[in-house]
Amino acid sequence: MPRGGWGRQGFRAFSWICGDWGVAKVLRAAGGRRAYGGGVEVHLVPCLKDNYAYLLHLPGSSDAIVVDASEEGPVLAELERLGLTPRAILATHHHVDHVGGNEGVLARYPGVKVFGYQTDRGRIPGQTDFLEDAQEFDVAGIGVKALHIPGHTLGAVAYVAEGAAFTGDTLFAAGCGRLFEGTAAQMYESLNLKLGALPDDTRIYCGHEYTLSNLRFAESLEPNNVAIATKLAWAQAARDKGEPTLPSTLREERMTNPFLRVAEKDVVAKVNERLAQDRSPQAVLAAVRAMKDAF
Ligand code: ZN
Ligand code: FE
Repeated sequence: MPRGGWGRQGFRAFSWICGDWGVAKVLRAAGGRRAYGGGVEVHLVPCLKDNYAYLLHLPGSSDAIVVDASEEGPVLAELERLGLTPRAILATHHHVDHVGGNEGVLARYPGVKVFGYQTDRGRIPGQTDFLEDAQEFDVAGIGVKALHIPGHTLGAVAYVAEGAAFTGDTLFAAGCGRLFEGTAAQMYESLNLKLGALPDDTRIYCGHEYTLSNLRFAESLEPNNVAIATKLAWAQAARDKGEPTLPSTLREERMTNPFLRVAEKDVVAKVNERLAQDRSPQAVLAAVRAMKDAF
């Protein structure tokens, strides 16, 4: 991957993205929607219209983690197909398209722990563990760290494990979630300071397949950004084949995601007329989010 700036090395980044995708494709051909996030195997489970649940397990182990049991049918079917036994459900936030399958999974596998943020008590079905920011825990042999990332909701959590981050509806590929409960300042901190502190090669697994429409919006803000144009073409081809566009990486997000690029000249210029006195990156993020709401 390029160490320099994006613009200059966009095409090198593209070949890296393609190369990575090639690997993911080989893994998928061998056994479904599978990719690796470091030492842990990650299986994508498409749910509902455009949600993803994820199954994590160590290679050779049948103990599994479910991230966001979106709906029970596809999650239970994939657990069975892979011969996995869930030990925990990690909920990124309380919205029903992320926890709607909790009770169904618990009915089939009683005793499964359900992790969520402490203030989501009463909002996440079956919740047994009430997390604090930066809390670490071990389940299915996998070390997990919870990062509190309010913005989309006040109890939103990212789960970081083995070089992968499960970001729910807070950080999407090339976008971020709507500000349903939190403020733009909270979203700025969650995306740019908390998630932004993770290493560049962190794999980003988010809650929805929104990549294409997010990249179209990103391109409208930065028509000269080669990385955005390149990834848009790649994502279009992937979706045409019915393939997911995830995982992304934090490096790709820094190059293509407008909500991680609120200090970039071109992005600021695009929202210039929407900004009053306050020209902080938080205010730029608020303006970009408002534009995306209407895009
Ligand atoms: Zn949500
Ligand atoms: Fe959602």
